[in-house]
Amino acid sequence: MPIDTTYELLQKLQQKAYSRIAITTHHKPDGDAMGSSLGLAALLQGFCQQVQVITPTDYADTYQWLPGNDKVWVYEGMEAQSEAYLASCDAVFCLDFNRLSRINFLGEVVRELKCDKIMIDHHLEVEEFYHYALWDTRASSTCELIFDFYQKLTGAKLSLDAATCLYTGMMTDTGHFQYANTTPHTLKVAAELLAMGVDQVAIRERIFDSFSADRSRLFGYCLHEKMQLLAGGQVALIYLSAEELQRFNVQTGDTEGLVNFGLNIKGVRMSALVIDRTERVKMSFRSKGDIAVNEYSAQWFSGGGHKNAAGGQSEDSLENTVALFKKTVVEFQKTWK
Ligand code: 5GP
Ligand code: MN
Repeated sequence: MPIDTTYELLQKLQQKAYSRIAITTHHKPDGDAMGSSLGLAALLQGFCQQVQVITPTDYADTYQWLPGNDKVWVYEGMEAQSEAYLASCDAVFCLDFNRLSRINFLGEVVRELKCDKIMIDHHLEVEEFYHYALWDTRASSTCELIFDFYQKLTGAKLSLDAATCLYTGMMTDTGHFQYANTTPHTLKVAAELLAMGVDQVAIRERIFDSFSADRSRLFGYCLHEKMQLLAGGQVALIYLSAEELQRFNVQTGDTEGLVNFGLNIKGVRMSALVIDRTERVKMSFRSKGDIAVNEYSAQWFSGGGHKNAAGGQSEDSLENTVALFKKTVVEFQKTWK
């Protein structure tokens, strides 16, 4: 069941009970993480004295054109300044994640804070670290939930900049409004944002027609030379070593979307991408239909996410991680209908 305990929070905002607010989002923020954070920051301008977005880590260049991006602090490298600001806050909003481990070291900092903590999110498996929550796994994106929140915040104005941020997150989390998380409500919200003047063609070009040549070559290489079909053609796997990342000059965000290509193949029901990020091996999983890759990832790779899109990680070597995947995915396949 969804959780909405924002009634008192809305009142506090309307009474201007908070003077300093922080907004944070998950490790390596994606379009929904940055869109919801910057959209909410713009929305809260009139309801407090200061609002600051603090991301735990850096993020892809493709999101750095978002309105308000120039004021974002990245905790890694700005630890003292971020911790001092957080200590002075009356409220911290946690967007697009629901477990403090998803924001790395910043998680422990947030856990210790005495201020109000607000979680707005659409992922499964909630940790109860918050005072107020707006949580709904049926929502396409956190941006969609921010729009719902905006509609309940009497007196709030959604600027074109904020609408642009929210549309961006909705578009990226739904794969251009195509994935199963796209509901009638999602399209209604998107339509309202477009009616406000959001330039969706410009957003699309900035995100999807702005990659480096290295990134396109990496995709070609992966599809041509690296993709394996396993489990009788039902599972696609691509894995990349640290050396390959270097060879293709891979930057933050460059591998986003790569895992989806496996699913394009007829008969493939689950796709996996395994990357040696040096400090740990990171995995991405996607599936079709009733195959719950979040449960599989939680069982074998300390992960989670959504039913059809999940991630996980391993402290083991790339070779051992791939071997574990190949072994366990065959068992997992036996549970598919
Ligand atoms: P991606 O594969 O795009 O990194 O992530 C897909 C989905 O899984 C996202 O919703 C993301 O939040 C979630 N996810 C990715 N990695 C992890 C992880 O290590 N743990 C958990 N709980 N969720 C993850
Ligand atoms: Mn999201």
